[in-house]
Amino acid sequence: MDTSKAPAAAELASPIQRLCEEWYPKVHVAIFGDQYPRPTDSLQVVIEPKVVVEVGGDRVEVPAYAHEGVIRVSSESLARMRDDYRGMLVHELTHISQRYRGVPDEAVWIREGIADYVRHKYYEKDIEAKLRLGPDGRLKGYPETASYLYGLQENRVKLAKQGYRQSYTVAAAFLFWLEEHANKNIVPVLNLALREHRYSERLFGQFCGAPLDDLWRQFFDRSLPHQAGSPPRSTPVRRRPTPNSAFQVL
Ligand SMILES: [Zn+2]
Repeated sequence: MDTSKAPAAAELASPIQRLCEEWYPKVHVAIFGDQYPRPTDSLQVVIEPKVVVEVGGDRVEVPAYAHEGVIRVSSESLARMRDDYRGMLVHELTHISQRYRGVPDEAVWIREGIADYVRHKYYEKDIEAKLRLGPDGRLKGYPETASYLYGLQENRVKLAKQGYRQSYTVAAAFLFWLEEHANKNIVPVLNLALREHRYSERLFGQFCGAPLDDLWRQFFDRSLPHQAGSPPRSTPVRRRPTPNSAFQVL
């Protein structure tokens, strides 16, 4: 723990250290199982007033950032977040465990989705295998405390097509739905493929029985509100006879 650049945050050093010691091993087992070695056992957490990272040539201020064995946390964000910072740290600990070293652009949503999946399934325990949607297909009913989803809801973001690209908690819900309805190992499968530089979108067909965008469409349709007895609004008429027949569970 290094709080030398943000002395006011020193009181958080012990709780953060305890959280990392407890959760880093748990997070790693959740996505790699108990046989795959952790990338490091020496974690450093640095708290500093601002954390600035470079994203596509721009310098962007973020609440926290993980790289190799170091998590940098902004003390300004910590002051704003109160208890919420713990969930954020579990997200960053997942990145420490992932250590992908290069992710194809089209898979960044999976890296972030897995980190939020771990955060909300194992730590916050509030993950849902659906999105809360209104009849118009926009997010509806998220409270301000669901900060990422609430922000998308307020901005009336469209999710019907490739909504998984919104990443984070949206992707986490989708991954959790895939786990429950298509393949219970899909998260470790995608995680290991990214770690070993052999990710391809074809993995969805191979492990979940349908192309990625078809799977998203099914997830999105089943998240839409519909009255009992009538089919989900935008489900094609020519459906497969049984809803799960396309899925191959491995
Ligand atoms: Zn992240």
